Amino acid sequence: MEILSHSKKIPVIELESCIFCEICVELAPHAFRINDAGFVEVLSLDDYLDEDILEAIKNCPKDCIVWE
Ligand code: SF4
Repeated sequence: MEILSHSKKIPVIELESCIFCEICVELAPHAFRINDAGFVEVLSLDDYLDEDILEAIKNCPKDCIVWE
């Protein structure tokens, strides 16, 4: 059950690879945002298991959203 294996995990942006295309922010604005410094950050949520977040991770062109 892949979804359960993610239940305690948090998506993290590998900023060194991120090109700030904002696709993740568009697909899952409740989880990702551009902060005042212009970097993508992950917002604090109880869990990160919804479709929008998984879709954002899948669609990141640089594959730089990883689970920790
Ligand atoms: S989709 Fe990936 S490359 Fe684009 S802003 Fe988000 S983390 Fe960065």
